[in-house]
Amino acid sequence: MQKIWGKRVLLPDGWAQDTEININQMGQIDSIVTDTSPSGLEFDTLLPAPMNLHSHCFQRAMTGLSETSTHQSNDFWSWREFMYKFLNAISPENFEAICAFAQMEMLEAGYGGLTEFHYVHNDLAGNRYNDRSEMSQRVINASCLSGIGLTLLPVLYEHGGISGSPLISGQDRFGLNFEEYYNLVDQLNSSTKNFSDVKVGVAAHSLRAVKAESLIELEKQFAGYPIHIHVAEQVKEVQEIEQNWGRTPIEWLIENTNLNHDWCLIHCTQMSDMEATELAKSGAVIALCPITEANLGDGIFNGKTWLEAGGRFGIGTDSNVSISLFGELKMLEYSQRLKQKSRLAMKTGIDLSIGRELFDWILEGGAMSSGRKCGLIKESYWADILALDLTSMHYSHLKDDEKLNYIIFSESRNVINSVFSAGRHVVNNGQHCRRKDIESAYKKALKQISKIL
Ligand SMILES: [Zn+2]
Repeated sequence: MQKIWGKRVLLPDGWAQDTEININQMGQIDSIVTDTSPSGLEFDTLLPAPMNLHSHCFQRAMTGLSETSTHQSNDFWSWREFMYKFLNAISPENFEAICAFAQMEMLEAGYGGLTEFHYVHNDLAGNRYNDRSEMSQRVINASCLSGIGLTLLPVLYEHGGISGSPLISGQDRFGLNFEEYYNLVDQLNSSTKNFSDVKVGVAAHSLRAVKAESLIELEKQFAGYPIHIHVAEQVKEVQEIEQNWGRTPIEWLIENTNLNHDWCLIHCTQMSDMEATELAKSGAVIALCPITEANLGDGIFNGKTWLEAGGRFGIGTDSNVSISLFGELKMLEYSQRLKQKSRLAMKTGIDLSIGRELFDWILEGGAMSSGRKCGLIKESYWADILALDLTSMHYSHLKDDEKLNYIIFSESRNVINSVFSAGRHVVNNGQHCRRKDIESAYKKALKQISKIL
């Protein structure tokens, strides 16, 4: 039994003092004792470590490169062109090295688990690997190395555009037909059955990349799985769906699928207030990726309407252009303030600080949409725990909830001491336990990629 102790610990019913957490061999929380003297590893502040709800790990290695362009005007679609070109330089070995590096940075940023939206299935020429799970296995291998808890979402991607156009260069690494996809999920379920905290979910890339009947079949065949999809990210995407399918993407999903809490809709940055109100009734969660959405010029989510309608959300690092848990929360709240011309824009109650409310939202949304038993420091939950050092003078006069405000809006130092993912103590003194090896493989991958690009 592993013991960790915190001077202050965020439990489901609020802050507790001098609290011991006992973690069993499996990595689950076995028992919690409050108001007790220090024992085991001692920390200042312990919080549940949130789930990163949406990511494409390989895009971590595009950072810097994708900010240069020969186009006159640049937008999401020109960024996407570069991403396709970039993929033509990524071997399975390099893909795995990049994934491990991104996952390591996620842990160092305070995330306890990752929901990876994984759509790179085929080889560099766009042909199927003999083992269809080759690239999925690379994500799993990386998670074994980084120690991050994983929900893997293999993604269905059938065609190049809304009209059913063929996959173009770059996209051909994504394509699988429904039968191949079904078999891939089946294979991944078998290969991960002995991994206690690797979970398999399902995903469709977007309405523009799959057939309507395939999406309906996906929901039917994999009932009860987490099911994710990119939705209403870009104006052009919404217009295309509306012109071809007679409904906006969100309207179409509401009318044609059984949206519920298993569904996670990613982005929704182009959603009307009316759609937000209707969508919230379904129980579906929205995955917001504020830093990437700003980087790609996606637009700003209508947070006020979503929260007023009772909607839930989590956050993801998406393109991994900057992997920062507290940075995502700052970007989210500030973009909402700019949109609404108000302060404390995502605040719904009067009891808690905005920092605490944002943190609670992402814990709940992340747990719901990943299918991972996390988000609470509670018996039988995975010990996904974030240990912070808040002993500097800046925190001395603040109440516990106010400390979260300071971390999100004002902290410039790294206050993350440790991160545990299912009890694995993967980050200690702010650094990942395998940083040297993971970094060295990543450097090698970058060198090889730069020769090809
Ligand atoms: Zn995405």
